[in-house]
Amino acid sequence: ASAVLFFVFLAIGPLAGVWVYSTLIKPKSLRKKLEVAIDRGEIQPWFQPQVDTLTGELTGCEVLARWISTSDGIIPPNQFIPLAEESRLIIPMTRDLMRQVRSWLLTEKRHITPGFHVSINFSSHHILSGQIIKDCRHFLNGLPDGLIHLVVEITESEILNDNRQINDVLTQLHQLGVIIAIDDFGTGYSNLSYLQDYPLDILKVDRKFITHLEPEVAHRHLIAGIIDISKKLDLSTVVEGVETEKHVESLKQLGATWLQGFYYGKPVPASEFSRIWLKKTGA
Ligand code: C2E
Ligand code: CA
Ligand code: CA
Ligand code: CA
Repeated sequence: ASAVLFFVFLAIGPLAGVWVYSTLIKPKSLRKKLEVAIDRGEIQPWFQPQVDTLTGELTGCEVLARWISTSDGIIPPNQFIPLAEESRLIIPMTRDLMRQVRSWLLTEKRHITPGFHVSINFSSHHILSGQIIKDCRHFLNGLPDGLIHLVVEITESEILNDNRQINDVLTQLHQLGVIIAIDDFGTGYSNLSYLQDYPLDILKVDRKFITHLEPEVAHRHLIAGIIDISKKLDLSTVVEGVETEKHVESLKQLGATWLQGFYYGKPVPASEFSRIWLKKTGA
């Protein structure tokens, strides 16, 4: 019997070791690594253009986080945002992104067309804690009047958590002049009644719906329906994942307000966004 136990131990021992390492030791050191990265300013805002559907002109941007690591290169958000959310580091991280975005806007203010939309992704922790209100007020404070509209993006799945609290915070944000956008709209399988209950401004149509634009015209009904609902509720739309000229043509016909996607541009660092997208006409 002891021989059997011995072999069982031989088999399980290493697995247990891996488990102990991956659940108890590694997350702690990764969390520490992320904390240090935030302190060092290694989490940087990249910017993706958003354009007016009809004219194709730049109307705003979405801020997307990138971890620029000296050892591991450019780390995409799906590899650290979940950890940031679990560890609540998401709040200081977002605050630091806002600081960087704000200072970029101040440097570029002469080259920005007034009313420019700046969309930032927020997690529900940040909203539920109420700290988002102070952070947005600070962000807007000292930016020239009318230079930008700050857009708070919240995913549809997160908004459903705690109705009263979220409604209250969104209402206060509205009073600051902040625009509220529902991100990944259509993926939450939700009861749509929240669309009437919350103070909302924009629906961001998830890019999975773009695939319904091809290859058959019949598949357009889904995205057409979303744009229809938004119009009836007096909401604007941003369609994400626009990659081809065909997409643009369809979305023009369907009446989407703004478009975002690789067809116009991928997310790029601030300096590159300035160079490509902001008018620098001498004056
Ligand atoms: P999201 O908010 O839905 O952002 C849009 C994602 O779609 C971005 O991925 C963007 O690069 C990608 N994308 C844009 N246009 C196209 C296109 O035409 N085709 C394709 N295939 N993809 C396109 P990214 O930058 O990797 O970000 C992934 C997700 O990470 C974001 O999805 C967002 O949920 C999260 N995230 C990024 N930055 C932040 C942040 O600062 N805070 C929070 N809480 N989440 C963030
Ligand atoms: Ca987003
Ligand atoms: Ca999205
Ligand atoms: Ca998303």
